[in-house]
This record gives sequence, structure tokens and C-alpha cells, in this order.
Amino acid sequence: MSSSTLIAATPAKTKTLGYAATSPSTPLAPFSFARREPLPQDVQLEILYCGVCHSDLHTARNEWQGTTYPVVPGHEIVGRVTAVGDEVKRFKVGDLAAMGCMVDSDRTCPNCREGLEQYCPNFIGTYNSPDKHLGGMTYGGYSKNIVVDEYFVLHVPDQRNLAGVAPLLCAGITTYSPLRHWKVSKGQKVGIVGLGGLGHMGVKLANAMGAHVVLFTTSPGKKEDAQRLGAHEVVVSRNQDEMNRHLESFDFILDTVSAQHDVNAYLQLVKRDGTMTLVGAPPQPPSVEVFNLIFKRRQLAGSLIGGIPETQEMLDFCAQHSLTADVEIIPIQKINEAYERMLRSDVKYRFAIDMESLK
Ligand SMILES: [Zn+2]
Ligand SMILES: [Zn+2]
Repeated sequence: MSSSTLIAATPAKTKTLGYAATSPSTPLAPFSFARREPLPQDVQLEILYCGVCHSDLHTARNEWQGTTYPVVPGHEIVGRVTAVGDEVKRFKVGDLAAMGCMVDSDRTCPNCREGLEQYCPNFIGTYNSPDKHLGGMTYGGYSKNIVVDEYFVLHVPDQRNLAGVAPLLCAGITTYSPLRHWKVSKGQKVGIVGLGGLGHMGVKLANAMGAHVVLFTTSPGKKEDAQRLGAHEVVVSRNQDEMNRHLESFDFILDTVSAQHDVNAYLQLVKRDGTMTLVGAPPQPPSVEVFNLIFKRRQLAGSLIGGIPETQEMLDFCAQHSLTADVEIIPIQKINEAYERMLRSDVKYRFAIDMESLK
């Protein structure tokens, strides 16, 4: 037997428990499956909290196509290290640790070499991606534990509110990365469109970066809450007079809305040379009035989560500014109900599953 055959051998496995969807229409239910035993570079986490992201629901219900069942969603994970492989240097048993949307990438492409693993053509998602170790698909954070290459594991510097830290791993980094990339800073005027899981983090982060933050919402009822979260102004986007008052005044607008809406209404509010970045993907492509771009040399952009170095930077930034997500903690048994409530925007502003409840 050659040594390469030995290296390629399937690692030892241990049984674990999670919650899975087995078809687009079946509720999530207990599901027993295997995780690999930690390889030399792996960290094993006992999952303490897992945030509930809209992508979880889209994937569980096959709304983006391409779901392989059974699927165990969850990619906003905070846990405690329960085992480490021989070559692991940055973590030890007992440490708190976190992980987000990625469990692997090729580490060799230009994106990976710049620490932008989220743009790697070979990045492996935390769930519903091919599992190169065990075959089949990767299973996510709605489970007792997870085993991940050390590189994709983050340190948790703020240990006070772990349930509120979990959503930082997707909602937090998805909003932090574009705010940083487009250099949002003190004195700038920044718009956040939508006040959901992403939007509420966008407001908190832009405020902490020193910007003048304007929150756009369709619901006048969200005004007070937006101010509590850090918005300096709140604009009801259906009110044309209110919108007109902000024409050509924004350095940057972050649009977090994934429902159908008119991007032109917001583009007109961006200054000359300013940028509007989309992080929510509406089901139908938005129609863009190109004159809105040409006349003021505006840019319309997109952004996907963030790389591993930036995710650690975001966790450190949030700890430094005492920022966490606003969460409602639920037991795993309430996950199907939570999905229905999430569809009605009936959560302030993220569900976090207490994984203690999974027995
Ligand atoms: Zn997510
Ligand atoms: Zn790569």
C-alpha cells in the first residue's frame, strides 16, 4: 500500500446528533450522523449557540435549488473546544471558539492568498457542500459538535454574551466587510437599508465606526428601535418627501434587503463617486436606471461575508466596542416555529439556538 493511500483513508468517525430537513417540505427534526475524529490540524467544538440565518431557511427548503438532503443548516457557531489535533497551535481544550460560513478552501488561489477565502472558487460551505473527508455533504451548526480545520476557527474575545456573538459570524461579518472595504469612517454619512438580522448589525457597526447613520425602513414602527441600536436618523422609505431630503448626500449605502425593492430610489441618494453595496439577493434581478450611475459616477456593488482574517478583526472590533447581535434565544425544538416567525420579520433581530436543548 502506498503512503498516499494511507493519507487518503477515511478518518475515524463518531456519532453525533443534529436537526435536519429531509425534504423541502418536511419540518426540521432530530437527525443522527457522523463527524470525523479530529485530524492533526483539526479543532473539535462542542456547539453552545448557533444563530439562525435566512440562508438556513432558503437551503432547508431548497429555495436556491441545489440542496442535498438531509441538510443540517447553521453557520453562526460559538462553541467550546473539546479536542484538538496534534498540529493545532492556536487553540487548546476548553477555549471558546467560533466559526462561520466556511470550513475549507483551496488555500492556494489568489483569493485565498489574500485572506479572501469567501471568493475562493473552491470554498467549502459549513453545510450543504461536498465533505472531502467523509464523503457526502458537510453538516452545519444545528448540532452537538463540529470538527473544523484550525484555520477556519476564530477566537472569541468577548465572552459575556455568547448567544449574541453567534450571529456575528454571518450577519456581523456580512455587514462589517463592506463597511470596511468601502472605508466607512468618522464624519461620513452612511445609509443602511432594512432593519433585520443584517441591517441591525449594519447600524451598530457603522455607528461604532463613527459614521452618521441613517436607517431606511418601510415600517414607521421601527423608528425608536433603530435609534436605540445607533441610527442617528430614520427614514421611512415609502415617504417620498423624506427620501427627497437626502438626495445626493450619502458617502455609502449598504442595502441588506432581500425582498423585491427599487434600488434606484436609493442610488439617487448617493453622492457623486459614492457606492451602494448589496448584500441581500432579491429573487428577481433588480432593474437599474443606468443614468443613476452615469451622471454622478456612482457605483453599485455586491459583497459576500468576509475572509477569515477579517472575520477575526470583526470579532475583535465588536469586543472592543461591546457589540453583539440582539438575539432571542430558543431551544432547537422551536426551530420550525422560528423559521415561520423569521418570514414574518417577527424577531428582534436574530434567533440563537441554545444547543444545550439538543439531547
Ligand atoms: Zn448566513
Ligand atoms: Zn482559494
